[in-house]
Amino acid sequence: MAGLELQDIRKRYGETEVIHGVDLSIPDGAFTVFVGPSGCGKSTLLRMVAGLEDISGGTMTIGERVVNDVEPADRGVAMVFQTYALYPHMTVGENMGFGLRMNGAPKAEIESRVQEASKILKLDPYLKRKPKALSGGQRQRVAIGRAIVRHPDVFLFDEPLSNLDAELRVAMRVEISRLHQELGTTMIYVTHDQVEAMTLADQIVVLRDGRIEQVGSPLELYDNPDNLFVAGFIGSPRMNFMAGTVESSDGGVRISLKDHDATVERPLSARPAPGTEVVIGVRPEQFAKGGAAELDLRVDVVEHLGSSSFIYAAPVSAGKSSATDEPPVIVESRDARGVKDGSTFRASFDPLDALLFDVASGNRLR
Ligand code: ADP
Repeated sequence: MAGLELQDIRKRYGETEVIHGVDLSIPDGAFTVFVGPSGCGKSTLLRMVAGLEDISGGTMTIGERVVNDVEPADRGVAMVFQTYALYPHMTVGENMGFGLRMNGAPKAEIESRVQEASKILKLDPYLKRKPKALSGGQRQRVAIGRAIVRHPDVFLFDEPLSNLDAELRVAMRVEISRLHQELGTTMIYVTHDQVEAMTLADQIVVLRDGRIEQVGSPLELYDNPDNLFVAGFIGSPRMNFMAGTVESSDGGVRISLKDHDATVERPLSARPAPGTEVVIGVRPEQFAKGGAAELDLRVDVVEHLGSSSFIYAAPVSAGKSSATDEPPVIVESRDARGVKDGSTFRASFDPLDALLFDVASGNRLR
């Protein structure tokens, strides 16, 4: 078991820097998820932890040890990849034990570790099978087993579920969570899927363009994002963003919305100057509670999920910019069975629940 400290970690490919000084603490035993859009540097960062990429700058500590120049095999980490790359001619048991055999571990030791891993992963019935006689999910379990037998201090997962179909992904997600509970080992998991991040993580690290945007527990990031990027990335369907302008900010802020005939008033510690361009963020479910801020909307489309529905709607206020580029306002409703496309309705929210962001910086106004 080990925690990790990343201090000013940088990665350059030739002249191009792709990781720009990452500082991060990963507590011992925590499940940490790196999430962000494609190309943000998640895999590169993970591969630097694994030792598969050189570290161009900064200090990487695993446990008590600086590992910048330590070989991958000596870092106490084991990695599970998106493609499981099992040896087709070996059985499940042989595949799991292969790494240990290469390291010259005694046969009895290999056997007992393979037994232990196959029990944890419920692979006992398949130990003598070849990979081609397994389902995708079972193959990925074997790949995880290959990591478990090494008794690593840290597990590294690089988008391990991306090749599985949706149903299997959900099932494997639960299994990986259970595995973490059972082993209690530090795990770092890379995904571009914010639902995976929300459901698996103790701690989510949101990355963009080689920098950390925010670190926090799933609900901290959901409830309290620091900036527009995190607010928009975490949550599905995403948070509604409505453009507005500050009218006054004496002891509270009054904002007129651009695409709606509406103003939003609320207390705010920050005192943005009148005229400041802002964005108001409201999550789809916040309309259920209602409140003093009111929007008149026209229904574009209703998505019925069964237990609830999402109404995609546009502002009615034609006087304002009708050819707006703003995405639809998404309103979650538990009572939308009779709602017709094209009909109008009033949605309201509590201004205190809304998040405010400064357009120029993208930062939250608190
Ligand atoms: P992610 O895993 O978040 O999709 P990556 O870590 O794979 O992103 O990539 C981060 C950035 O580094 C991207 O801009 C990518 O183009 C760049 N990159 C990755 N590998 C190399 C490489 N071998 N040479 C040059 N640039 C690379």
